[in-house]
Amino acid sequence: MTERRKTKPVRVGDVQVGGDAPVVVQSMTATDTADVEATLRQIGELTEVGCEIVRIAVPDKAAAAALPEIVRRTPTPLIADIHFDYRWALASLKAGIHGLRLNPGNIRDPEKVRTVVREAKARGTPIRIGVNAGSLPPIPALEEGELPPTTPRRMVDAALWEIGLLEEQDFDLIKISLKAFDVPTMVEAYRELAPKVPYPFHLGVTEAGTPRAGSVRSAIGIGILLAEGIGDTIRVSLAADPKEEVPVCWDILASLNLRQRGPTLVACPTCGRIEIELIPLANEVEAHFQKLGKPITVAVMGCVVNGPGEAKMADLGIAGGKGRGVIFRKGEIVKTVDEKDFMSALIEEGDKVIAELEARSNGGSPSDSTSADSAGSPAPVISLEEIPHPGR
Ligand code: SF4
Repeated sequence: MTERRKTKPVRVGDVQVGGDAPVVVQSMTATDTADVEATLRQIGELTEVGCEIVRIAVPDKAAAAALPEIVRRTPTPLIADIHFDYRWALASLKAGIHGLRLNPGNIRDPEKVRTVVREAKARGTPIRIGVNAGSLPPIPALEEGELPPTTPRRMVDAALWEIGLLEEQDFDLIKISLKAFDVPTMVEAYRELAPKVPYPFHLGVTEAGTPRAGSVRSAIGIGILLAEGIGDTIRVSLAADPKEEVPVCWDILASLNLRQRGPTLVACPTCGRIEIELIPLANEVEAHFQKLGKPITVAVMGCVVNGPGEAKMADLGIAGGKGRGVIFRKGEIVKTVDEKDFMSALIEEGDKVIAELEARSNGGSPSDSTSADSAGSPAPVISLEEIPHPGR
């Protein structure tokens, strides 16, 4: 992982983006914004699954008219997504919106952009310059023999054009996104702009697709950049219920050890050596710990090849073997149980790990000193001989 790019922090409501803030998770409602109750319901659902900033489309007067009520009742900071008509940006600002997104390909009149910036500046509201490869400004006339600019270059130029308009008015509450469906295009655009400006980046692969393909594309595009230290907030765009986007964002962040929300499951992929019914167990374990929503790492492993190693590195783990399983808690073997008792043993030991986590985050001492001592220190070395394994 490369050291994170230094950026000027901005505040979207009470959420900081950029600077030393953790990478923030975003999504977007899919409701008709004019329908206040449906929009607030979806904002609530997104918030519940871990969305920290919610964007809502403001395409017309009816949507703009709904904003004061939505802003008044939202539990989460909101960004108004504006295309084409700058009047809805002004109406959103007047409604107290926490941030704006403007597309430089769609509002090309500098005077209209300046009007919006003046109003945003007066209110201290940040603006995201949201460049999209699918709606770029036209290419200026080319000199004879001149090659047309590449798409990443056009994206960067569009962003720089609008950044210029904002900076002209001493406005620096800026975030930038350079989204494309094509992953190499989007990666190149962000990389090219990164050394040129100090503003935080919102990362995303646009119109990424249905959940499986879209999650993979997003994870690759966003993941490459985050691993290079680029990116301050992320959104995964899926052709699905927006609630499905948020866990994917969290999985991307957890995969790079940037942030964790809820459990991380380490599960063996199974092979010919499998000695327990692993897949149903892994699903049951994941569902149980997801419900609890605590940042615990649980390993469910099918045999003694990698099982003990992975299980002892997790907060909680099980290494199966011929109808029995060894339960590890914080690197230590705590018990061996029969297959019928796997789930109950994992629930019981998981409760202890969670109690320790909570005691530590509240600044108190963990109730179980043995496990507390082992937390933070290297896991004890366990030889395979020490692990009861009827099959060996
Ligand atoms: S842990 Fe064992 S069963 Fe699972 S994939 Fe590895 S070798 Fe196969």
